[in-house]
Amino acid sequence: KEELNIIQGALELRTKTVEDVLTPLTDCFMLSSDAVLDFNTMSEVMQSGYTRIPVFENDRSNIVDILFVKDLTFVDPDDCTPLKTITQFYKHPLHCVFNDTKLDAMLEEFKKGKSHLAIIQRVNNEGEGDPFYEVMGIVTLEDVIEEIIKSE
Ligand code: ATP
Ligand code: ATP
Repeated sequence: KEELNIIQGALELRTKTVEDVLTPLTDCFMLSSDAVLDFNTMSEVMQSGYTRIPVFENDRSNIVDILFVKDLTFVDPDDCTPLKTITQFYKHPLHCVFNDTKLDAMLEEFKKGKSHLAIIQRVNNEGEGDPFYEVMGIVTLEDVIEEIIKSE
């Protein structure tokens, strides 16, 4: 029954982690921090359909900002505004969590925070060199809700 599925999903929030539900970095629609908000870029953003767009510097794994589509409300594509002008104006905080964060804890964070998108990182100590933080992908409130209401 549907109700049992939902209860089951809710119970699994305690055991599943953000890593189980994240959208991998390679699938993320993102913008480079040196992008220019011309007609092309703004069209791509609109066509992506996403509300929150990570902004990276040099490397896609180096996320430095989040652009909200509503930040573009007063941007005129003819002005070719640098993306940096907008991100520096709004300065939305980045919300980073580790890959082993349980979904119930993530849901609590989303409930109290202002942001409904988290950047998932892990400690990479596989190589020869020093361990480093590696961005794996993003999780939104929707991904957590999806775990609750999905029916199997
Ligand atoms: P909203 O529904 O609040 O307008 P949205 O449609 O942009 O936001 P969500 O509903 O939060 O996005 O998430 C839907 C799915 O898309 C989730 O699996 C989430 O991980 C993924 N997602 C969100 N933003 C991006 C992005 N910029 N690139 C790729 N996938 C994304
Ligand atoms: P997002 O978080 O994706 O940017 P949002 O903040 O506009 O979207 P939601 O998070 O979907 O809106 O909803 C937050 C609350 O605001 C909900 O209780 C919703 O019913 C309410 N809400 C959304 N849009 C309106 C509106 N136009 N007028 C009044 N209440 C609204």
